[in-house]
Formats: sequence, structure tokens, C-alpha cells
Amino acid sequence: MAETIFSKILRGEVPCHEVYQDEHVFAFLDIGPLAPGHTLVIPKEPAETLDQLSDEAAAAIGRVLPRLCRAVMKATGCEQYNILQNNGTRAHQAVMHVHFHIIPKPTPEQGLGIRWHPGKLPDEEGQAMRQKILAALE
Ligand code: 5GP
Repeated sequence: MAETIFSKILRGEVPCHEVYQDEHVFAFLDIGPLAPGHTLVIPKEPAETLDQLSDEAAAAIGRVLPRLCRAVMKATGCEQYNILQNNGTRAHQAVMHVHFHIIPKPTPEQGLGIRWHPGKLPDEEGQAMRQKILAALE
């Protein structure tokens, strides 16, 4: 995996506002917050996208993510928030090291804005896609 700014943060070569770390996970404030308390949660394991992450690192993030969400909620007094996790440049990933955003949504204007244009799922398409995903999981 190519070197990223998050590798440097993990090694302590670039400063950050660290809020948590354990054997597998590191969390710190985003330098360009969409709202106060915007936090990034990253695995220490180097992986560009979520699909490349080991089960062990993924489990470690899953175990601590709700606790970090509660801490951000308590610290900001904000009860609503989004978890955002981008994979690939077209999907708005700028730093190619897996990361989860915890983004408080204190007002309609602050936090994450989402464009959501739902399509339709005809039964035949749903069945065909389900079969493909089941086969891929085998
Ligand atoms: P992405 O678009 O890849 O999901 O988000 C990358 C995030 O990393 C952005 O929200 C950006 O503000 C944050 N970021 C980029 N460089 C730094 C940095 O040097 N320090 C911190 N704390 N956050 C950073």
C-alpha cells in the first residue's frame, strides 16, 4: 500500500488530535470538520479500502466504533450523526487508508449532506443480483 498522510499520523510524524487508540485502532479529529466533533477512526493495519481489511482489524473497529460514537455524542451534545466510509476516488475517498468518519449532524446545514436518488428493484433483477452475491460469498 502506498504511503498516506494517515501512515505518518500513525507513526507520530504528523500531529493530530488523538482521541483513542488500542492495539488495532486509532482515532483522531478530522482536520476539515463538517461539524464540531468530526472524528476519523482508522485501522493501524495498512489497507486502502474496506474490502482489503483483515477480519481481525475489521472486528477491532466494529468493537470500538459505537463507543466512539457515544463519546462524540456526549462531547458535542449532538444526538444525531452519520458514519461515512468511502472506498475509491469516485466514491469520494481522498486518503487511501481505510477510515470511518463519525460526523455529528447538529443542524440541517452542518454535518454530512447527502444526495440520494433511489432507483427501483424489479423482482427479477433482485433475484439475479442475490444469486450473484451469494455465489461471490461462497
Ligand atoms: P475521505 O474523503 O478520504 O473519506 O476523507 C479524508 C478525510 O481526511 C477528510 O475529511 C480530510 O479532512 C481528512 N484529512 C486529510 N488530511 C488530514 C490530516 O493531515 N489530518 C487530519 N486530522 N485529517 C486529515
